[in-house]
Amino acid sequence: MSANLKSMTVSEIGAVLKEMGQPTFRAKQVYSWLHRGVRTYDEMSNLPQALRQELAQKYPICAPEVVRKQESAADGTIKYLWKLSDGNCVETVLMRYHYGNTVCISTEVGCRMGCAFCASTLGGLVRRLEPFEMLDQVLFTQVDSGLPVSHIVLMGIGEPLDNFDNVMRFLELMNSPEGMNISMRHISLSTCGLVPKIRELAQKKLQLTLSVSLHAPNDEIRNTIMPVNKAYPTQELLDACREYYAITGRRISFEYAMIDGVNDSEAHARLLLKRLKGLPAHMNLIPLNHVEESPLKPSTRSAVARFQKLLEEGGIPATVRRTLGGDIDASCGQLRRKYTNQK
Ligand code: SAH
Repeated sequence: MSANLKSMTVSEIGAVLKEMGQPTFRAKQVYSWLHRGVRTYDEMSNLPQALRQELAQKYPICAPEVVRKQESAADGTIKYLWKLSDGNCVETVLMRYHYGNTVCISTEVGCRMGCAFCASTLGGLVRRLEPFEMLDQVLFTQVDSGLPVSHIVLMGIGEPLDNFDNVMRFLELMNSPEGMNISMRHISLSTCGLVPKIRELAQKKLQLTLSVSLHAPNDEIRNTIMPVNKAYPTQELLDACREYYAITGRRISFEYAMIDGVNDSEAHARLLLKRLKGLPAHMNLIPLNHVEESPLKPSTRSAVARFQKLLEEGGIPATVRRTLGGDIDASCGQLRRKYTNQK
């Protein structure tokens, strides 16, 4: 476990403070201040001066630095590129919906999953993020934008289930009443399909929404766009999804990037219906965001509409994801990639 206080629970901070001879109630105070996104201990006005100084010396507060901030003129989406304390960069996106402000966070610097359409994976995995580095994205997006955050999606750079323990700790932190107090029902976690980890997550019985990046109705197509499918083929993945539903009672939300001529035909929709039969699911159709380095193109509007209609008629609720921030490179990994390439 990292020695950063922002990766710790209230009771772990309590243990640190006890060592310093402090009473138990201080732990909640320190935790709450940290989770408000303070940058210095001097802002912790209800702590004694001597304690502030000791903490500053032993546990300096770190905060990511904004290197780029882009705001969409069309829909108010804000995208941040942060520099972490070791100089690596990650992206966070704030999206404004009628039900509240949603922050999309990164869980790793880069990614090793290799999906053919995704900008985040082009340079491979650099390292995994610590719990406090995920927390900081939420805190400082809130502080910088001045907008209260009510929903979190783990859909930025990285594969959350490839950084399992740190992500579980992050969820615990987000959920704590002394901190952001964000309900699990307001959190979505997206995975490319790491089957053993989906099973492990199911056992935790969290009330979050599991999003599975399916993107294809069969192995033939999925193998060509998602290397992870070679390790965990579609049948195994769908079996794990059924098990996840049986254990948690939570409907699975599938993501399906619509790629022109690859996965968007009527036959593909029908096969999808057949394979998802009996599994309570929701299908999120995402017209592919074009990535410069990739030859793949988004499906036409009419192909997306036809696909949606067929799924709905077959009993699977399907929505076409509203593309937010189209004018600001808001697709995962694009901003970091541009910045890294310029250096
Ligand atoms: N690693 C996780 C979460 C990160 S990506 C996962 O794979 O689910 C969040 C979603 O965006 C995933 O469904 C991913 O497949 C999708 N995605 C990535 N690049 C995309 C692109 N260029 N166009 C549309 N969707 C994309």
